Amino acid sequence: MRDSFGRTIDYLRISVIDHCNLRCVYCMPLRGLSFIPSPELLTAEEIEQVARAAVAVGFRKFRLTGGEPTLRPDLVEIVGRIASIPGAEDVAMTTNAILLPRLARPLKEAGLRRVNVHVDTLDPERLKRLMRFGTLAEIEAGLAAAEKAGLTPVKINVVVTRDYNDEDVVEMARRAKERGWHVRFIELMPLGGGEAAHVALSQFVPSQESRRRIEEALGPLTSLPRTNLADEARNFRFAEGGDGVVGFISPVSEPYCGSCNRMRLTADGKFHLCLLNDDELDVKRALRSGGGETEVAAILTRAVGLKPTGHRLEEGVSAEERAMFQIGG
Ligand code: SAM
Ligand code: SF4
Repeated sequence: MRDSFGRTIDYLRISVIDHCNLRCVYCMPLRGLSFIPSPELLTAEEIEQVARAAVAVGFRKFRLTGGEPTLRPDLVEIVGRIASIPGAEDVAMTTNAILLPRLARPLKEAGLRRVNVHVDTLDPERLKRLMRFGTLAEIEAGLAAAEKAGLTPVKINVVVTRDYNDEDVVEMARRAKERGWHVRFIELMPLGGGEAAHVALSQFVPSQESRRRIEEALGPLTSLPRTNLADEARNFRFAEGGDGVVGFISPVSEPYCGSCNRMRLTADGKFHLCLLNDDELDVKRALRSGGGETEVAAILTRAVGLKPTGHRLEEGVSAEERAMFQIGG
């Protein structure tokens, strides 16, 4: 499906829950949180209905996110329902991996293809400061479980945060080089207007700085050709060899809105048109008042038509109504 700016929109990111077992400083504050009441969360069946309608209008790729998607008790069922839709070519998930030792295999069997694992540093103490609950050992166990279950290729997401892990990008890149990992360094985005947004603004590190640090320590990086135009990361290999890939996701310093291919579904049933903007269209009302696939597809088509051309972070405009954990990244 094409939006009014000619972009092909075929990727739906589905947030299944807004709870999380961690409290990353740039995502979730420790106090003052309120969560979507359970009856307001889309059910597994409703998520499947939206995914079916999405496939009917040309969507092909799905990613489950949250909050922490593995906290959703019926996650395996949700994956199974989406993966069994003819035309749903790719079902992936973004997670902090802590619950994967128990879930990786059933998720794989249900049809999940791969996971992106969020781990900001390989230093256990600094990880505790940044991701606050949970330990590096737990995340590493989850990562190993994902690899063992074949949820591959695993990509690692690192949010670079000044004074917390900005120097750790080197060790993370070294791990990518030595182990053949694919690590992506993400620039902070201010969402939700609260404490987390404040951290995102004050601790921002441009990707250029992370890249310079890595090259100074580990040698030059060679740009990889873009195989997928909608890939938000600019990917590199080490000129001196190795299978590792490092990517930089730079929504602030180098916006990629022109090649955005995604729509988002919030856990309470809204199509969220752009991560960095508050505009939404309600789909839950239609689902709960007997609207079938055609009505849902019509709402999704309208949502795609209304997607903004780009974000306006440089003018100080961002999503105010929802924080990152309430949209799903
Ligand atoms: N809990 C899962 C996780 O952390 O991967 C999935 C949800 S999380 C909101 C999705 C992604 O958003 C994470 O990979 C994290 O790196 C990223 N993220 C969270 N807050 C961010 C922020 N303020 N700026 C940039 N990326 C952020
Ligand atoms: Fe939880 Fe993911 Fe947000 Fe961290 S980034 S608090 S793991 S939802």
